[in-house]
Amino acid sequence: MTCLGRFAPSPSGRIHLGNILCCLLAWLSARQKDGRVLLRIEDLDTARCPRRYARQMEEDLRWLGLDWDVGPGAEGPDGPYYQSERTAVYEAALETLEKMGLVYPCFCTRAELHAVSAPHRSDGQTVYPGTCRDLTAAEAAERAKKRAPALRLRVPAEEIAFRDGHMGPQRQRLDAECGDFLLRRSDGLFAYQLAVVVDDAAMGVTEVVRGADLLDSTPRQLLLYRLLGLRAPEFYHFPLLLAPDGRRLSKRDADAGLDVLRERAAPEEILGKLAYLAGFNPSAAPKSTWALLADFDWDKVPREDVRIPEGLF
Ligand code: GLU
Repeated sequence: MTCLGRFAPSPSGRIHLGNILCCLLAWLSARQKDGRVLLRIEDLDTARCPRRYARQMEEDLRWLGLDWDVGPGAEGPDGPYYQSERTAVYEAALETLEKMGLVYPCFCTRAELHAVSAPHRSDGQTVYPGTCRDLTAAEAAERAKKRAPALRLRVPAEEIAFRDGHMGPQRQRLDAECGDFLLRRSDGLFAYQLAVVVDDAAMGVTEVVRGADLLDSTPRQLLLYRLLGLRAPEFYHFPLLLAPDGRRLSKRDADAGLDVLRERAAPEEILGKLAYLAGFNPSAAPKSTWALLADFDWDKVPREDVRIPEGLF
């Protein structure tokens, strides 16, 4: 099977070094296998991800030399490539799960969820304690008069194990470490977990390369692949880039945003430094995407978070 890698950015602002490293690794990992690359814009939350940000992101990726074979501007048979235009596909998947009796309405507010002392997951989220799991149809109908429900998936008391292509063997006990998770929010927006699975499968993606902050989501996604009868891709999670002071890099780190970086550096300089931090460029010397292809090796990529040295960019 030919390899199809993907970039799946959420355009809620200008891309930063963390997003760029993600796209670079996804691009190199797929291209090294003579694979193709797909771009999908994860703009489910259209209020946070307006189309003009997506357009800017596409332009930034092209400027960096991170091209794609399928996606916006390179339409293939499995589009549209903007999640905001794919609601019907998510509705269909939700219906399949509903018919299996695995979906239930949840009326808990955010404040109520914070108040209950459920165990915390590694990402700081609480484990859903199952408050609405066993409501009767009559109780649910009564509550629905006052508040639109979110929809949750009933997870089995089961451990999901898989081998990450970079981080090695992983396991998670879904009921204890995650709990019943959201498929649709109370405002009607489909949840990332459902959309990403449905789309990666529908678009024929064979490998997913992304930051280790999503490693913890993978067992949920593997459960959805199985329930929906879809083929799961290979997963490669890589460590996160940290700001020089050790904090997680975010859109608020102005220096790490491409708007600032583009003013003062060429694409090859940005990519060469990122590849150096990611362990496979022997020095921080400038290199293009295609030049980095010869150096790229997953075995050289660290497994611990990487701090950006002060003044490197
Ligand atoms: N859209 C997600 C993000 O930008 C990435 C999703 C994924 O790679 O699975 O964080």
